[in-house]
Amino acid sequence: MSKILYIIADGMGDLPIEQLNRKTPLAYAYKPNIDHLLSNAACAFPSVLGRLAPQSDAGVLADLGYDPTKYSTGRGWFECLGLGMAPEDGDLSVRVNFGEVENGTLKSVRTYMSKEELRQLEDEINEKVKLPVDFDFKAGEGYRAGLVLRKGGTKFSQYVSNNEPGYEPKFYRGGKKLSFASKITSKKISKISAIKNEAKNTAGLLNSFIEKAVDVVRKSECYSRRKAAGSQLPNYVFLRDAAVGDPKLPPINSRYGHGWTAVAGMPLEKGIAKAAGMSLVETSELEDVNEDLKNKADKLAVAMSRSDAVYLHIKQTDSASHLGKYADKYAIIEAIDRIIFSRAIRLVNIGRGDTIVFTCDHATSCEQMRHINSNIPVLIVNRRFGRISDFSERACSRSPLRGIKKAIDIMPFVTGL
Ligand SMILES: [Zn+2]
Repeated sequence: MSKILYIIADGMGDLPIEQLNRKTPLAYAYKPNIDHLLSNAACAFPSVLGRLAPQSDAGVLADLGYDPTKYSTGRGWFECLGLGMAPEDGDLSVRVNFGEVENGTLKSVRTYMSKEELRQLEDEINEKVKLPVDFDFKAGEGYRAGLVLRKGGTKFSQYVSNNEPGYEPKFYRGGKKLSFASKITSKKISKISAIKNEAKNTAGLLNSFIEKAVDVVRKSECYSRRKAAGSQLPNYVFLRDAAVGDPKLPPINSRYGHGWTAVAGMPLEKGIAKAAGMSLVETSELEDVNEDLKNKADKLAVAMSRSDAVYLHIKQTDSASHLGKYADKYAIIEAIDRIIFSRAIRLVNIGRGDTIVFTCDHATSCEQMRHINSNIPVLIVNRRFGRISDFSERACSRSPLRGIKKAIDIMPFVTGL
């Protein structure tokens, strides 16, 4: 059976940037290995969620062929699943950030800490916070964590707001839920509120968790040490995207054929891969981009040796965009070409009928430093296609494949080749 290698570079799509000769970072990047593949390639320029700017959960779900508005019960489920917290249907899963508040107003929603510091806070919160329901709290990477309230006899509701500013929940038929970035209009810290009456108890439990966790964190040794050192403080917790219930994604292997394996280091993407029934090659995110990509290339080789379809997720393109670092962004795309594609070319056999897909989950604008609703560039390499001249947003928009109008069309198209 022919193989599929599906590479998603987070937030890779962008808009033209003045300093890059009005090119996007993808168009500007020198990418000889990708260019070499253009002799058998086609491109597409689908929309992900129409006029809405997607978060990564919606984008990755769509890229993998699942309509996020029909399947997502909320990002919290995937985050907690990816953190290894094993949420069960009916539990309440929430994404958490450690952040900093000053005089009751928001200073930052992200307090970056070492793995060790995060583990210490995780232990203290699990030990000292008492709620009327059982819960697990687990630290992730940087400033991130997950919270799962175990259902016991409690009926939770996902109809709650976020106390993390800048993210508004949007609900779809059947209680399905996504959230979207919004402008932060007020720096005042707000409580979590019930959007429906049924969610009053859930909102109360989450507010109680916030109050108690903040108290524990402010009394922690980690906090005192950082305060003495003048470092960014973890003195608040921000919760968002509470999910109740298993999104019950139809298994990807039966839905789209092949036996899928994922190489992903971030909890969200690991969680989506697990929820889709993929096997996982364990990996984590390394700080140095080149080292991280080398590690991912090694893991990719392992995955390709045991599986006929592999999803590889690369995070750094999005991180650079959020910081407005367009020069870093094109350099990362060049590193993906140099480190991942030089290896990928040897792991697949285009002549035999294998396919490479290279795209992103959403576009992230370096100039605006946020996700945008632009269509995404998609490259599909397969022997049935002729030559294309270039892989960039512009080239994709000029001669897109007719069969791929939306990101959710990519998987049926590619697996039907
Ligand atoms: Zn993303």
